[in-house]
Amino acid sequence: MKVVTVGTGMAAAEFVQQLRLGGFDGDIVMCSAETHAPYSPCVIPYLLAGEPADNVFWKGRDFYRRYRVTARLGDPVVEIDRQQTRLRTAQGRVEPYDRLFFAPGSRSRFPCRDWLDTAGVFGFKTLSDMQAIDGHIRTQGVQRAVVIGGGFIGLDAALALRHRGLQVSLVHCHERLLERMTDVDGGRFATEQLAQRSGIDLYLSSEVATVTARNGQACGVRLRNGRDIDAALVIVATGFVPNSAPLTGAEQGIAVGNDLLAEARILAAGDVAVTRHALDGPAGLYATAPNAIAQARVAAAYVLGGQTRYAGSLNANVLRKHLDFPIVSAGRFEGEAVTFRNQRLFRRVYLQEGRINGYILIGDTRLAGYIYNLYLTREPVAGAIGSVLADSRGESYYRSMMNLAPAGA
Ligand SMILES: Cc1cc2nc3c(=O)[nH]c(=O)nc-3n(C[C@H](O)[C@H](O)[C@H](O)COP(=O)(O)OP(=O)(O)OC[C@H]3O[C@@H](n4cnc5c(N)ncnc54)[C@H](O)[C@@H]3O)c2cc1C
Repeated sequence: MKVVTVGTGMAAAEFVQQLRLGGFDGDIVMCSAETHAPYSPCVIPYLLAGEPADNVFWKGRDFYRRYRVTARLGDPVVEIDRQQTRLRTAQGRVEPYDRLFFAPGSRSRFPCRDWLDTAGVFGFKTLSDMQAIDGHIRTQGVQRAVVIGGGFIGLDAALALRHRGLQVSLVHCHERLLERMTDVDGGRFATEQLAQRSGIDLYLSSEVATVTARNGQACGVRLRNGRDIDAALVIVATGFVPNSAPLTGAEQGIAVGNDLLAEARILAAGDVAVTRHALDGPAGLYATAPNAIAQARVAAAYVLGGQTRYAGSLNANVLRKHLDFPIVSAGRFEGEAVTFRNQRLFRRVYLQEGRINGYILIGDTRLAGYIYNLYLTREPVAGAIGSVLADSRGESYYRSMMNLAPAGA
């Protein structure tokens, strides 16, 4: 049997490794738009900050050789011919398959495609993006940058650039940052902390009208209110588009079942896959590394002939790179809110029928593992959760791990 992957990213690398570890002896061909060994996009902000991040090639630089893979790199797949069970690449290569693992991830969404024609404007999604940004900073001696978009990825980029010593402005269309990862109060708290402590200049409730350029080179952005921000580097992080077009002709992702099958012979996983939520959330694109890896494992088990079913995705997020007050959240912000907050901490859980439905923790991660576990297991917590949140020493977690009664009980 011949297995072909579209993409060499986190999902595809995990899938191929699991196949080989599970004894698969057939041919494996991996196709990628990029030229690298499999890498982790999660580590890119560390590279951008100028830090050594050897683990970017998270499964080893020799991945293709070690797992006996034929790698077709630097040539994106543009079409899947289901009738003929083969794919076609931009350079015209045709690759037949018996099983196709479709995992091309997603790409940065540009509100205006023209911006990309200006030198110094980049998305922030791939290692190739990061290398281009890094090269631009070095060759142009960039001192000032603008990041457009105050979600998870925009902040990851802005914090990394600030850590590198650049002066960074961040433009966001909402009145608070991270509005998808937090509720109103949590988002406001996070925004205040970032405004006071990150060193990034925030432009909230603001929209970029245009990228300004001199001789084809970006020199800043102009906001809709007419204000100009100078910068020789502009990073656009205003969301993602799933790369589903080669398979579906559309860019809305690909619905998969509990076996990760999109259709006969074709499995899909990672940022491109529309999966069900593990608890009670809606089906959707749950674009995180743990989800991609879990999906890849189930897909590999399917190809190996196993019975594993995908348990569903979680919308858990942790923002903590280059930040001394991590921001953690998961679940739905609906139900009865129980909150503990002081100047440095914001901790809130949402309860439904006495069980955690969603949570936001800002300021430290001492309780994160404990709350995450309570959320997953849906244990009744209504009576005790207030004192757990107020536990500034984070003892609750350790007491529960040791099977000890809550402090003061
Ligand atoms: C800056 C950044 C920071 C992140 N931080 C975190 C984090 O802290 N925690 C977390 O859980 N998640 C994080 N993520 C998200 C995580 O990296 C993704 O959810 C995960 O990589 C998804 O895996 P994937 O295999 O679907 O896609 P990817 O790992 O993105 O791989 C997709 C691959 O497919 C290739 N490709 C694209 N189109 C084609 C085509 N037409 N033909 C062939 N190949 C193609 C791409 O070049 C790419 O190499 C971060 C993402 C970014 C961008």
